[in-house]
Amino acid sequence: MLKLENVQSGYGNILAVRGISLEISEGEIITLIGANGAGKSTTLMTISGVVRCRAGKISLNDEEIQDLDTDAIVKRGVCQVPEGRHIFPQLTVRENLDMGAFLRKDTKQIKQDIDYVFSLFPILAERRNQDGGTLSGGEQQMLAMSRALMARPQLLLLDEPSMGLAPLIIKQIFEIIKKINEENNTTIFLVEQNANQALQIAHRGYVIENGKISLTGSAQSLLQNTAVQKAYLGI
Ligand code: ATP
Repeated sequence: MLKLENVQSGYGNILAVRGISLEISEGEIITLIGANGAGKSTTLMTISGVVRCRAGKISLNDEEIQDLDTDAIVKRGVCQVPEGRHIFPQLTVRENLDMGAFLRKDTKQIKQDIDYVFSLFPILAERRNQDGGTLSGGEQQMLAMSRALMARPQLLLLDEPSMGLAPLIIKQIFEIIKKINEENNTTIFLVEQNANQALQIAHRGYVIENGKISLTGSAQSLLQNTAVQKAYLGI
């Protein structure tokens, strides 16, 4: 579904992504793990067009997208949940969800999808009339993911969903990412510093170091790799 070939991108004089190649097939959960500043968020933002691709190719369903604007990429079914959530704090939970469905006209299915995200995250149903800004960090993460789901993405880009959350909430969020993938066949590209949790639910993974892919393999093989264990799993 998604293919990156020798992609480079960055900010001003800084080349943050230095020739990355990776592939994601439909229905997979792929994780990109790496240390602080390795280039994980930049990779995601380059796919979604927020950061410009300076060299290389990004193909979605065999169509090159690296020169498209973000809105054109979103219209092709790629939806990003950014690091730090970025929900609309002054809109209610329900209004935030409506914003996620902004490009859709199928009112009946929108209603069904709202029921679906409320079934995934019952706490959001309870808080549907509450302003987004009054939610806890975990609930805001749930809302950000739900808002993205309201766009019915074929590819969901998740940037550090576990950041700043308590272990119990992290566990819940990761279980639901797996559920979203299994129930809807949504392809998921998950960027995480929490390598252990990410590899527990992913099919395959890539390790990024200084803007380059240093290792790739099945999630199981990465979990058992001694270098990964030492650098990212604290074993
Ligand atoms: P983190 O887990 O801390 O978010 P990351 O792996 O996602 O790390 P990036 O945020 O992609 O890493 O950063 C890659 C490099 O690009 C780093 O050297 C970082 O300092 C730099 N960088 C990121 N955002 C900007 C920016 N807006 N302007 C300039 N440099 C940036």
